[in-house]
Amino acid sequence: MTLLEGRRLAAEIRAQAADGAVAGIAPVLAVVIATDDPGAVWYLGSIAKAAAATGIALREERLPPDGSEVLARLEALSGDGAVDGILCLTPLPDGLTLAEAGERIAFAKDVDGASPVSLGRLASGLPAFAPATAQAVMELLQLAGPTLAGADAVVVGRSNVVGKPLAMLLLAEHATVTICHTRTRDLAAETRRADILVAAAGRANLLGAEHVKPGAIVIDVGTNEAADGSMVGDVDTAAVEPVAAAVTPVPGGVGPVTTAVLLRNVVSAARSRPG
Ligand code: NAP
Repeated sequence: MTLLEGRRLAAEIRAQAADGAVAGIAPVLAVVIATDDPGAVWYLGSIAKAAAATGIALREERLPPDGSEVLARLEALSGDGAVDGILCLTPLPDGLTLAEAGERIAFAKDVDGASPVSLGRLASGLPAFAPATAQAVMELLQLAGPTLAGADAVVVGRSNVVGKPLAMLLLAEHATVTICHTRTRDLAAETRRADILVAAAGRANLLGAEHVKPGAIVIDVGTNEAADGSMVGDVDTAAVEPVAAAVTPVPGGVGPVTTAVLLRNVVSAARSRPG
């Protein structure tokens, strides 16, 4: 069994981004945060650290948690010529969905694929930034090296930011894709067919050995807080290790690659800056 570490891959992607960033452009990422959620605050801190090391300037847009300013600020940032990329952190204030927020983000600056335009273009096979997490899974799969064409890929989770865009990216690579969710009748029966199994449910240890086909590649997107405060994924890694060919760890798998992909998208948006 291979442990598919994300940190080295993330460093490579950040190095590519830094190369792009130094070629005469100074990319700017605006991050909108309207929550005190510890996960969001932690993610912002890790983006800030990686951005600084990559030559990307971070503009932190901290807004009141009542949500009153989020949509207007996203619109203003979309029209701000000094900003290349916009990220709106979740969880959003009550009454506001990411799709609604995403509608206010200009397509060219939508570096985390939050807007319905980006998702629609992705589904239509047109150029768009995919959500960084979904793209990170694809990069980890490339590292693991299975043939995607014709492979049975099962994605557990159907959110707009992970499950759905990932299913589209896998389809574009000619995998046969199944998406599972809470109404799936027999989860284990579906996941046991998977050559490639992606867990993005946000349920600690949802998938064990009985869910995994021998030799499968398992990518764990989940980040859940365990009773002792540590971070665990959706996959019971110890149980799955004897069965799978490869598994990503949590932490240290999808997470760092996601941040690196996001920054690469910012550099790419800056390179397409008008004028
Ligand atoms: P989400 O919006 O809550 O979606 C979770 C999905 O999983 C839903 O579609 C839900 O089904 C499905 N699900 C939940 N419990 C299930 C079960 N018991 N059986 C089958 N399906 C189940 O979450 P998300 O934003 O997609 O994130 C998913 C996980 O990834 C979370 O742990 C999140 O923290 C993590 N995440 C990690 C990164 C990273 O960079 N590492 C980035 C983003 C998210 P229904 O639609 O039927 O409710």
